[in-house]
Amino acid sequence: MVLLVLSGPSGAGKSTLLKKLFAEFPDKFGFSVSHTTRGPRGGEADGKDYHFTTAQNFADLVASNSFLEHATYAGNSYGTSLKAVEDVEKAGRHCILDIEMEGVKQVKASGRAAKFIFVRPPSLEILEERLRGRGSDKEEAIQKRLNQAKNELDYAAGGVHDITIINDDIEKAYGELKKYILEVIGEQ
Ligand code: ADP
Ligand code: 5GP
Repeated sequence: MVLLVLSGPSGAGKSTLLKKLFAEFPDKFGFSVSHTTRGPRGGEADGKDYHFTTAQNFADLVASNSFLEHATYAGNSYGTSLKAVEDVEKAGRHCILDIEMEGVKQVKASGRAAKFIFVRPPSLEILEERLRGRGSDKEEAIQKRLNQAKNELDYAAGGVHDITIINDDIEKAYGELKKYILEVIGEQ
């Protein structure tokens, strides 16, 4: 099984791309459902998009070494539990993580073999439009995401990812993502 790690600024289009991938290949890939202390957005389901949890429960999971990686992002905690990855792999699927850059660094440091995919927006202006257009975050959360976007882009500029996909046209970006992923899992 190949571990696939998708990252990129919030609003770059990671969830949109992954939805398309899971819709086209429901049996091949599985999403690693992260824990977060952030509240659910409209339309997000507990146990599917995230395991929504309390700061106390999150701290307990950190203390019991239950996470492959975890980080603070825009004032909330996020983490990939070892179990989340295991559950997907036990089901015979390639596991896909959608995580921010501190988590990417930790997965790299863990020594696990993985492929790192960076999704970038065509520009910061377009990223801002998309974050606003998504209509799911308050102004403060949007500002935090835009500030963090610059850090994500700087980190990616160091050439630490296996592939960068520019999400301008969604169909084109999805085509590139699909081609790369099918290649690395040995199906193309
Ligand atoms: P992320 O998961 O990276 O935070 P989303 O997938 O939620 O980002 O995308 C952010 C917003 O941008 C959503 O409203 C989505 O519909 C929109 N979006 C994603 N890709 C494109 C694209 N190529 N062109 C226009 N809008 C897009
Ligand atoms: P959002 O709140 O917009 O869903 O996610 C904010 C950021 O947290 C995104 O960059 C997303 O990739 C990242 N994220 C989601 N889950 C995890 C996780 O388990 N670990 C880490 N490190 N980042 C995560």
